Amino acid sequence: MDYTLPPELGPLQAEARALAAEWAARPVPANDLGVLEDSWLIGASREFSLALAERGWLGMTWPVEEGGGGRRPLERFVVFEALIAGGAPVATSWFADRQIGPTLLQYGTPEQRARFLPDIVAGRSAWSIGMSEPDAGSDVASLRTRAVRDGDHWVVSGTKTWNSGAADADWCYLVARTDPDAPPHAGLSELVVDLHSPGIEIRPITDLTGNRHFCEVLLDEVRVPAANLVGTENGSFRQIMRQMEHERGGIDRLVSNRSLYDDALAAADLDDPLLRQEVAALETGYRIGRLLVLREVLGQAPAGFSAATKTFCTEFEQRVAAFCARVAGADALVWNRTSRGVCYAPAYTIMGGTTQILRNILGERLLGLPRA
Ligand SMILES: Cc1cc2nc3c(=O)[nH]c(=O)nc-3n(C[C@H](O)[C@H](O)[C@H](O)COP(=O)(O)OP(=O)(O)OC[C@H]3O[C@@H](n4cnc5c(N)ncnc54)[C@H](O)[C@@H]3O)c2cc1C
Repeated sequence: MDYTLPPELGPLQAEARALAAEWAARPVPANDLGVLEDSWLIGASREFSLALAERGWLGMTWPVEEGGGGRRPLERFVVFEALIAGGAPVATSWFADRQIGPTLLQYGTPEQRARFLPDIVAGRSAWSIGMSEPDAGSDVASLRTRAVRDGDHWVVSGTKTWNSGAADADWCYLVARTDPDAPPHAGLSELVVDLHSPGIEIRPITDLTGNRHFCEVLLDEVRVPAANLVGTENGSFRQIMRQMEHERGGIDRLVSNRSLYDDALAAADLDDPLLRQEVAALETGYRIGRLLVLREVLGQAPAGFSAATKTFCTEFEQRVAAFCARVAGADALVWNRTSRGVCYAPAYTIMGGTTQILRNILGERLLGLPRA
């Protein structure tokens, strides 16, 4: 079996690597930490979104008639592997490119697609994801944020949390309870909320590493046009599951801290047999993870398998962080890029669905094991 990518993708890969190298060296405006890791979540830059749009790298695979690039999934894979592994600040456009656009393509009305997709492809809009709440993370069905119909609007009240990028975003893709009397899974709907609407307060939260990318979003009787409900009213649960496939199976889950690894590898004493073994295990893990992602990208993975892909890849990222700490030795105690990368690493297996939840999905839905 030949695992190498088609050679004609080489120039595209080289172009993306060069762009990443150029931008990773610049200070990121929304982030004074100069963090290269997790640049798809933390590296916010409107300017970089425009640079991506200029190259046709947003909505790359979406249909041409919807304003997308109509390009092959492998091309998008090659571009974003290079950009994210190289620490390019893709965060401003990432949620929209990764999952909101595909969700609108699948469930949005023609009017919604015409309203929102062109701005995403042009790098002019930034989106955040409003699922989690203070008392509802893993258990999406226990969401409490309410949306009540009032004429041509929904009136939304509640609190969302861990909303990455909300402080810099234009739109929030928000899940709210639209039927309080239905069973928990059955009363949820998805709304596109303008984050500049009256009644919204956004409070950034500082994480352990000093980052302020995620936010608490408080909604007090926010009026959202009824036309902004995406898909089926009260039918969000199925749509969320589909959206999660986009969120969990991509290359971003494998290469978040690749540039930290590259630097650690360059500094590692490879005469040390234990370190050499660790490098061999990591390099093997990286290749396995990449094959899992490629299966998702090419549409060859079974439905729901992204739970396995994300679990393997994010646990791999944590092994990378541990390796970097080992190479740094006592220097890992100094507050620098490595120590920040180590402190940040637990987040990999929490965001986008925790490893425990994903293992439940694998056991119950894919393997059909009995519930404990
Ligand atoms: C860096 C980062 C960025 C994020 N960005 C966003 C964002 O942009 N938008 C958004 O909506 N959310 C975001 N989140 C939130 C994230 O989706 C939730 O943190 C995650 O789903 C877990 O929910 P929770 O924190 O409420 O933990 P809980 O659901 O309370 O879980 C706590 C612990 O209990 C375990 N657990 C819970 N239920 C079960 C079960 N049934 N079986 C076994 N174990 C279980 C979990 O695995 C976990 O270890 C982000 C989180 C992080 C860390």
